[in-house]
Amino acid sequence: MLGNAETARRGNLVSAVGMLLAVVVTLLAKQILSYEWILVGIVAGSLVGYVAAVRVKMTAMPEMVALFNGFGGLASMLVGWSEYERLHLASPDALPLFISTTIFLTVLIGGITFTGSVYAFLKLAEWVSGRALLFRGQHMLNLALTVVAIAGGVLFAMGGDYERAGFFAAVAISLLLGFTIVMPIGGGDMPVVISMLNSLSGLAAAAAGFVIGNNVLVVAGCLVGTSGMILTLIMCKAMNRTMVNVLFSGFGATAATGKGTAFAGELKPISPGDTYAVLETARQVVIVPGYGMAVSQAQHQVKELADILEKNGAEVRFAIHPVAGRMPGHMNVLLAEANVPYEQLVEMAAINPMMPQVDVAIVIGANDVVNPAAINDKSSPIHGMPIVNAHEARTVICLKRGKGAGFSGLENQLFLLPNTRMLYGDAKVSLQAVVSEFKGN
Ligand code: NAP
Repeated sequence: MLGNAETARRGNLVSAVGMLLAVVVTLLAKQILSYEWILVGIVAGSLVGYVAAVRVKMTAMPEMVALFNGFGGLASMLVGWSEYERLHLASPDALPLFISTTIFLTVLIGGITFTGSVYAFLKLAEWVSGRALLFRGQHMLNLALTVVAIAGGVLFAMGGDYERAGFFAAVAISLLLGFTIVMPIGGGDMPVVISMLNSLSGLAAAAAGFVIGNNVLVVAGCLVGTSGMILTLIMCKAMNRTMVNVLFSGFGATAATGKGTAFAGELKPISPGDTYAVLETARQVVIVPGYGMAVSQAQHQVKELADILEKNGAEVRFAIHPVAGRMPGHMNVLLAEANVPYEQLVEMAAINPMMPQVDVAIVIGANDVVNPAAINDKSSPIHGMPIVNAHEARTVICLKRGKGAGFSGLENQLFLLPNTRMLYGDAKVSLQAVVSEFKGN
């Protein structure tokens, strides 16, 4: 059900009911020590969750997801730790190898997820610099830390005098590793990293499930782990980058990540009045939303314009690029909020063959995902990235505020093409002006 936008709501509901069932069954278990503390946890967690969900702005969604992922990792780590303390109190002997291994994995993955996610949150919220921080020997340091953490795990599993030292070394290093792994990854790549950390938080939960012998936790954790990993790979593919490149290349360490070719041509502005004239006669219109639509929160005005165009006899579709915006499904969520029907949303692969027949492509705050350099400039760092072929439409109208580059920092040849016109200004204001022109005529 989650694989399709129309059934996703029901899929979420089914998952929620499944989780409720798991919680109720767990609460009925005899080993529960204190219902009072569980209640305190429920009240405190619900309050924080409610306030955060109500107050978060749509553009701040990725960092909230990052933070909540991190709490998942922390929870798993604490479960692993407390289970170790409980078993240690019960018997000072070395733990069975299976138990010590799963506790070690829970703590290691949970710790990395926690600090990695908190750092990702800080980068995205711009509380710290979003730049990729690189230094010599960085990857060697991460490798060395991983080796020391594993050595700590071995001491822990062996039991004896160094058992506790080994365990706490693994805890400390996992927390450190979260920071050092995310450090060389730029703010723009954070959505990919968040999706990967989400996957890790699932694996930590699955490991915690083994620790406490809870099958539901194992299954739910594996679901989160695999779906998060699939999402991560989809995002990498949509950017034509490998996961290794995202994690280790330091993309975004400098302001511009690559130059590509400089293009000739001039930017040709268009007024809202002339935009109206072009759109008034159009019969096939494709709207390509991007990050700028999210920044200006223009989704309701986009929907209003789409409705007006349809009333005027045009067929309107929305071209959805898989990495438009700054998080997976960013455009889908915004357009759904404005009640744009799902049938109007067309995926990139399906819309591209239709582009040559399209009268007008309206590009709203999208840049990289419509950059033809991805197809025709081999020297471009984004060469090979799949794009929405907006440039093939008879006329292209681009809404943006000025000459600002996209996430990649590259110049965009689309804006200079003879069939492109630039409607400058905040997307919401520009769309309101075009809608007013329609209403006034
Ligand atoms: P983009 O390349 O980041 O470009 C956004 C454009 O919007 C900018 O050129 C900017 O130009 C314009 N803009 C900003 N605020 C605006 C406003 N208020 N009104 C109108 N225009 C505004 O966006 P994109 O085409 O959506 O591409 C997404 C990029 O993010 C891709 O490079 C993708 O690889 C990357 N990325 C996405 C994800 C994901 O999950 N979606 C994950 C990782 C990376 P002005 O400043 O001139 O207005």
